[in-house]
Amino acid sequence: MAGHSGNDNKNKSGGHNGPPLATATEIVVAGRDPARFDGFVNVPVVRGSTVLSPTVADMEGHTGRYSYGRRGSPTLEGLETALTKLEGGAGVVLTPSGLSAVGLALLALLDAGDHLLMVDTVYQPSRRICTAQLRRLGIATTFYDPLVGADIAGLFRENTRAVFMESPGSQSFEMQDVPAIVAAARARGVTTLMDNTWATPYFFRPHDFGVDVSIQAGTKYLGGHSDLNLGTISANAALWPRIKGAYSDLGITVAPEDAFLAARGLRTMAVRLERHQESALKVARWLAARPEVLSVLHPALPEHPGHAIWQRDFKGSSGLFSIILKPAPKSAVDAFLDSLGLFGLGYSWGGFESLAIPFDCSTYRTATQWAAGGPAVRFHIGLEDPADLIADLERGLAKLA
Ligand SMILES: *Cc1c(COP(=O)(O)O)cnc(C)c1O
Repeated sequence: MAGHSGNDNKNKSGGHNGPPLATATEIVVAGRDPARFDGFVNVPVVRGSTVLSPTVADMEGHTGRYSYGRRGSPTLEGLETALTKLEGGAGVVLTPSGLSAVGLALLALLDAGDHLLMVDTVYQPSRRICTAQLRRLGIATTFYDPLVGADIAGLFRENTRAVFMESPGSQSFEMQDVPAIVAAARARGVTTLMDNTWATPYFFRPHDFGVDVSIQAGTKYLGGHSDLNLGTISANAALWPRIKGAYSDLGITVAPEDAFLAARGLRTMAVRLERHQESALKVARWLAARPEVLSVLHPALPEHPGHAIWQRDFKGSSGLFSIILKPAPKSAVDAFLDSLGLFGLGYSWGGFESLAIPFDCSTYRTATQWAAGGPAVRFHIGLEDPADLIADLERGLAKLA
């Protein structure tokens, strides 16, 4: 607590009443409460459904801090408090997966007859929330080009209620002009949401850019160890009651063990992200110089079409990016990927391990054309030594020939 005086500060949830702390410091201190837990640094795993009240008067007067497992526990509250601090909004709810966080946020904010603008480059399963579930409830979705910028204003209808963003785009890494989209939405009283899983609030804070609702798949960098599914929704003060209300009404909760693992992951998230960033840039630059590679889709590389936006708005880049290979038969690309020893073939990302998947956006996008010019591969660069990863890729690329 260097530089911050006052004994009781150390005991407060969040640990601190002084001037604003750096995000890396908040990641370490926020949501802890050792004085409440006999000095233990971490909030313990508190399991339970039943919470007892000492008297009927206490029960009926709701005098206790907790009333029922689903309605809150120290373990969940510790993580919610930490994430609220990190996101800079009014509150955070935890959901059982990233996808359920997207679904709950949309369900909470949209009514029958509303119209949603959804970015065409959104995480693919989020599309079905719109085309299958919201549609069933009489909520219409228009998918829009991620590069639309301020021209989003031209897509607003009388009943447009919300704009959903994800930047960079899933798999293909288009950068959205978040401030321009937020300005256009605000002028019309339209709500903005953003899936911020790629950057996490460590590299980009959606609320600082006026985004109303910030969503993360905590499964990825928050957990950081490929051992849990979790989602988080952060809302600003105006929308917090609606998000919290829908969360409570629908009976959403997460297991205390998962919240504990996510809190444990959070404490090292800044150092992990710094390493993911550094290693991913090394590997991306090496790939960019390879004769087999047509282009590298990484917004922190100067040649990326979204680089200026990334540089203006983001504080860093994480471990996930894609490449487009020069035209090659599927069998050759499969041989390349099959031969990799350190890169696992697996969905998800954000853990300590490196991963690769082939992908083809043309099979599911509807508002934009995917004309990459060759086979596409997405990489997650884990925490291995990048020299070993590069050697693995070099051996693999030999199989492409
Ligand atoms: C993985 C992911 C999700 C979904 O998270 P799950 O925990 O797998 O449901 C949502 N959005 C993005 C951008 C993701 O990468």
